Amino acid sequence: MPIWTRDDEYEKFEVHGHPTNMVVDLGKRLCTCQFWIMPCVHACAALTRVNKKPEDFCHKWLTMDAYRDTYAHYINPFFGQSLWEESEQNRP
Ligand SMILES: [Zn+2]
Repeated sequence: MPIWTRDDEYEKFEVHGHPTNMVVDLGKRLCTCQFWIMPCVHACAALTRVNKKPEDFCHKWLTMDAYRDTYAHYINPFFGQSLWEESEQNRP
């Protein structure tokens, strides 16, 4: 059960639960339970209270743009070792 702290931005909540209560700040994307990569259950409760979607509060690492950036590059194909040229340099 999220309890609004009555801050001007409507972003700070005390979320009552078990085993203890947590403090959620939607503006700073903080919850006392964890580092915020995606909203925890406490943040989701607060977001429901303010009619906002949890997916809009996920870290940018979890976006499709980040996924596409990660896999935007490819590995060039390379022929087999038997086709390599002999080097005149010392072997490593
Ligand atoms: Zn939490």
